[in-house]
Formats: sequence, C-alpha cells, structure tokens
Amino acid sequence: MELDAPNIGQLEKEYLNKVLESNFISTFGPYVNDFEEKFATRLHATSAVSTQSGTAALHVTLCELGIKASDEVIVPALTFVATANPVVYTGAHPVFVDVDLHTWNILPEEIEEAITPRTRAIIPVHFYGNPCAMDKIMNIAQKHDLYVIEDATESLGASFGGQYTGTFGDFGCFSFNGNKIITTGGGGMVLGKDHTQLEHIRFLVNQARDGSRGFFHPEIGFNYRMTNLEAGLGLAQLTRLDDFLEKKKGFNTLYRKELTPIAEIGFQAEYPCAESSWWFTGITVKEKMDAATLQQKLKEKNIPSRRVFMPLVEFPPYKEHKKREYTHSYEIYNRGLCLPSSTLNTSDDIYEVCKAIKEIFGKKY
Ligand SMILES: *Cc1c(COP(=O)(O)O)cnc(C)c1O
Repeated sequence: MELDAPNIGQLEKEYLNKVLESNFISTFGPYVNDFEEKFATRLHATSAVSTQSGTAALHVTLCELGIKASDEVIVPALTFVATANPVVYTGAHPVFVDVDLHTWNILPEEIEEAITPRTRAIIPVHFYGNPCAMDKIMNIAQKHDLYVIEDATESLGASFGGQYTGTFGDFGCFSFNGNKIITTGGGGMVLGKDHTQLEHIRFLVNQARDGSRGFFHPEIGFNYRMTNLEAGLGLAQLTRLDDFLEKKKGFNTLYRKELTPIAEIGFQAEYPCAESSWWFTGITVKEKMDAATLQQKLKEKNIPSRRVFMPLVEFPPYKEHKKREYTHSYEIYNRGLCLPSSTLNTSDDIYEVCKAIKEIFGKKY
C-alpha cells in the first residue's frame, strides 16, 4: 500500500541507461528539448521551458513578469509552501486569501476583495489536481489588469471546460517531484502564451548566458535548468501519463462508491466542467472525528494517509500576513485527509483502505 510513491518502469530504466551511455548527463543533451516539445504538444501548448523544479518555475515566471519589492501577489492560504515562497524571493508580498470549502481552491470573490493598487498577479493553485474556476479568475485578472501564474504542479493532465490547466494564465508551472503526477526525480516546466517571454525564460534559467558572445551574461540569471538525465526519465514517464491519470481517476471513483454511504465522510468537490488529475483523493471527516484522529486510526491498521497542508499563515515567516479570515482553510486542514493515491496501488489496495475506514466508522457500513 503506497501513499504517493512514484511509479518507475522498464522504459524509464532504458531511457536513463541511454542517457548514461551517451555521457550527456548534465544540462545539455537531446532529451531536454524532446521532453519540452512532447510536453507542450500533450497539453496543446506551443512551447515549454523545463526547469530544475516547480518552485524554480514559479520563481522565474514571477521574475519574467517583473514582480518586485512592494508588489502584492494573491495566493491561496491553503497550499504547499512553495506556492508562496517564490513571491518572497522576488521581494514582493504574498496576500493570502481563503479557499472554497468544497473545491478547496482559491475563492474568486476573495481574490477580488483582496485586490489593492499594489496587486500585480494572482497565483491560483489547482489543489490536488482539481481545476480552479479559471473562467472567473481570468475575468477578474482582465478586469483589474493582473497577471495570472497557474500553480499547476499537482494538476498535469487536468482540464477546465476542455482546456488543460496551466494553459489559461500568462504562465503555467508544473512540477516533476517524486510524488507528482509524473516525475523526473526533481524538475519542473513552464508553459506560456508569449513566445518572446518564454525564450527569455529559457535564457534566464541558463544563467542568462548569451552564448553568441561566449560566457557573456547581460542579466542576472539562475541555474534553473533541467538535466538530460531528468529529461530522459520525464520522456519515459510522459508516455505513461494517460495510464496514470486513468488509474488515479479509477481510484477516486472507487473511493467515492465505497465511502459515500458513510455519513461522516465528504469529498473534495469539482466544478461540473472540470476534470481533475486526481493527484490525491481528498476526503473530509465530519462531526465527532477530526483528520488527526482518523489518520491515527488508519495508521494502527497500517494504512498510510497524509494531512492536508497547514494554512501558510501558521508559519513564522507568514504570520504577519495573517490579515484576513481563513475559516475554510482551517476547517479543511482540521477535517481533510489524503488517502493512498499512488499509481503503484491496485484496486484491491483501495478496497482495503475503504474496508479499514468502514471498520473505523462502525459496523453499520
Ligand atoms: C510540489 C508543489 C510545488 C513545488 O514543486 P517542486 O518541484 O517540489 O519545487 C509548488 N506548489 C505546489 C502546490 C506543489 O504541490
């Protein structure tokens, strides 16, 4: 039974061996371009730039948009810390807003309320792969002249109204960390609409090097490149993306079928036109039990689970940013739990989790 372990197969080993034999193991090599092209094509985007991580992708896109000290960037209070940290790297202020109690995603109404003359950008997070209300968010951005960087690190392959997440905003950022939808060990990708901006990002992640002049660096850049080794792994994983998505969706369907009869359990909800990547199946427990208790009881039955992220305003560097109400974020933190969702699991594993949960909630189920 695996919570979120990566699924590495024979093809990954073959590709990795090919990279090793070619000796192009570092940041130059044919797999990097190939991976970028195939990734872009898969998501119906024109081009993509690979990065060292999802965090690096978020940071470099903020830099590309010229986000700087004294600017404000709106982010959800409930997310992984790496959504907000890159905002601080630029010197700008993250403005945390509450999420929706049902979808666990940033609330468009809250975004609008938080806008000030200093607001420059919004970073919506497709929480656990569940697409945000991108129609409303893009309308707000247009109305107030704000940039949108989608944190699509958990939502590879998810779509809203038939359009892939990560292709709505000025930029979409992806992660290939070990527990994400596909992995390169560690890595990330940027999608964007503007060719010139994307090419400039390609230059920034490569130490802002102007190769035509040797080692000449007209700007401050970053070492945010993906390696050929990572790209080899990514290319193999990409061929399995559809299988992973189908498997995760199947797990979610099973969980819902088995656990919906339990009155004390609720599920993270999607918008009708949204198709999640089902990175994790997230449930909430009601009334007498909270997430910590359910997690402990599952642990006693050898079932791994994962708590939902703590609202970021709880962390010392972000406490001073706790300026609004985050009722829903705290509620989801206290009541939400992620169930085993690794694609290494079988349907039998999922039935076993459901059986354990049914036992915990009593014989009536
Ligand atoms: C994983 C993740 C990131 C960061 O990605 P890394 O590749 O680990 O740097 C950012 N935001 C969210 C919501 C994530 O889940």
